[in-house]
Amino acid sequence: MRSHGHEARPTRPVRAGHVAVAVAAYVVAPFLGLDGFVDPRISEVWPLGGVGFVLLMTVWDLPRRWFVLVLVAMTAQTTGTALVYEYAAPQALWTGVTATAQPLVMAVALRRWFARPCWRPERQSDIGAYLAVTLATTTLVGLVGGYPRLGLSDLDSVVLWWWVLRSSVFCFVGGLLFAVLFAPPRRSLLPPAQWWNTVLVVVAGVLCVVGTYLDSALPLSWLLLVPSVWAGLTFTVRGAAWASLLVALLAAAMTYVPGLRFNYEGPLPAASVVDLLVMASTGFALLLALLREERAGLIEELARRGRESDGRRELLSTVLDTMAEGVLLLGRSGLRAHNAAARRLLGRPLPRDPDVAWSELFQVRGADGLPVDEATLREMLRHPGDEPVELQLDRDGSTRVVEVAVARLAHELDDGEDDAPRAVLLRDVTSQRARLRELGGFAGLVAHDLRGPLTVLDGWLELADDPEAAPDEAEAAMRRARDASARMRQVIEDWLSYTVLQHGRPEPQPVRLADAAAALVESRRGRAVDGTGPDIHLQLPHTVEADPALLRQLLDNLVDNAVKYTAPDQQPVVRLSSHDDHEPGWVRIEVSDEGIGIPEGQEEAIFEEFHRGPDEGRSRGTGLGLSLTRRIVAMHGGRMSARRNDGPGSTFSFTLPLA
Ligand code: ADP
Repeated sequence: MRSHGHEARPTRPVRAGHVAVAVAAYVVAPFLGLDGFVDPRISEVWPLGGVGFVLLMTVWDLPRRWFVLVLVAMTAQTTGTALVYEYAAPQALWTGVTATAQPLVMAVALRRWFARPCWRPERQSDIGAYLAVTLATTTLVGLVGGYPRLGLSDLDSVVLWWWVLRSSVFCFVGGLLFAVLFAPPRRSLLPPAQWWNTVLVVVAGVLCVVGTYLDSALPLSWLLLVPSVWAGLTFTVRGAAWASLLVALLAAAMTYVPGLRFNYEGPLPAASVVDLLVMASTGFALLLALLREERAGLIEELARRGRESDGRRELLSTVLDTMAEGVLLLGRSGLRAHNAAARRLLGRPLPRDPDVAWSELFQVRGADGLPVDEATLREMLRHPGDEPVELQLDRDGSTRVVEVAVARLAHELDDGEDDAPRAVLLRDVTSQRARLRELGGFAGLVAHDLRGPLTVLDGWLELADDPEAAPDEAEAAMRRARDASARMRQVIEDWLSYTVLQHGRPEPQPVRLADAAAALVESRRGRAVDGTGPDIHLQLPHTVEADPALLRQLLDNLVDNAVKYTAPDQQPVVRLSSHDDHEPGWVRIEVSDEGIGIPEGQEEAIFEEFHRGPDEGRSRGTGLGLSLTRRIVAMHGGRMSARRNDGPGSTFSFTLPLA
């Protein structure tokens, strides 16, 4: 029921044009209705119910006072018309009241039924609602004597049935069609009909109605259904309503053509058959159009969901593919999906066939290095523990250490626990494990390297401190102690550089190689304890784009090595020269010495971390110098290599970008 002002409800604008049309129709409706001309007990045309309903629809959202005023005006209009037709006053008033009450009951009942602020039929069942409410209210009005010459005494009379049908045509057809036509416009999911199709439907409509009325024996009455079914199949819901309205109005108009009126004979006379056909025609047209609209809506929804799920799938695959970890999705029938990282990590195409033995294909071994058999592997993937498992895989001849974590997905979808889909996360920890091993070894190495010189230092300091020692002995002891401490500093510095370079970023700027080398020579001269520094020759015309501090460390390492790996009884000679590289924009720098030379066949191996050659040089090192040097070169985008000279010594050459 409408709520009148007590609670806030969304009021929608009352369309003045719609109200005007409905009021105009209602002014003439009683004149048409009360003029019975076939059977004195009934009217040939009874538009009051339908027109009244349409009027109430248009003013439904008016304030309560105005709405009541409309009801009173409707009653007065019908009563007045009845008086004009010389009804007795009480009968005229009763006719007025019932003629207004019927559309009001119809409107309230439909509003209850729909439970939404719109009269427009949205689904097929709404058409059933219009039909049911129409038949119920018109029957009721007939029974209580709403039509002046009918009453309970006519219950057994077919005349009541005739009248109910006649009144229902207007309520059902008028109510339903104007509910569509007066509804606020909205985007139709159906495409508009072609113009020629519209013309054909209109022509067919006219021909079919005329054809129906031409023969009162009704052989062509079924023609009434043709234009509506056609419109229902090709028009939008609104278009179908217009087509049905055309048919209904033409049919109503034909009723007034003398000589074409249908007879009222028997329980289902020709006139009632036409009434039924007009109702069916409207019902079918809207039903078909609504069904098509519903279908179009479903298709659109399906397409939207499809796009949504495509989007989600794309997002998921983007996320998966940008992950550094490998992900495998395993289902009941084997591998369902995997990401690019998994493919890279496993190093070969992943088998979709559930029968392929992964343990053999990837040569899976446990953390202890022993082969893992297929059953154990499958069990591991099926019943994952809380902690990730470490496995070793063979890839392209090298061994990768992979951390495997398994998560079960969507348990509720699966009947058997064992077959639940699983996500397997693979993390390549090879370099981490290697680094850990390396650091462990390095710590031992540092301890070992520091312990040696420290013991030596202790010994020499003790000797220098000995009051009985001769002055020259004490002096020599001090010199040796200094050597030992320098050696320790070297170990510590190498270690520091190694750690810093793991994460450092170079900040390149133009550096004149000659200046950088001159500064290096200068500082070496200052450091030389006994004044016997190496013999350094410079021929460095180029300017490079490099981080000055790193470049200095690089040159220092190489010159250091040249000195270290020259026999103790020989004067170290180092030549630094720069040349245009064969690759444009790059400078090749060579550092060559005349020392003992790189051990045969170890030109590449010496660049590995902690690699040390035979202990032939002047002093032992940490095995980090060259790997640091190469890393510095690589940080600038260059390459580095070493070779034995044809004569004595070796040459280290590297490239840096030209400034
Ligand atoms: P470290 O000098 O601390 O041992 P490096 O990484 O600097 O470590 O050098 C690795 C190995 O390369 C050395 O142990 C040595 O055998 C060899 N090497 C490096 N520079 C030279 C050189 N100029 N002449 C001969 N051998 C060298």
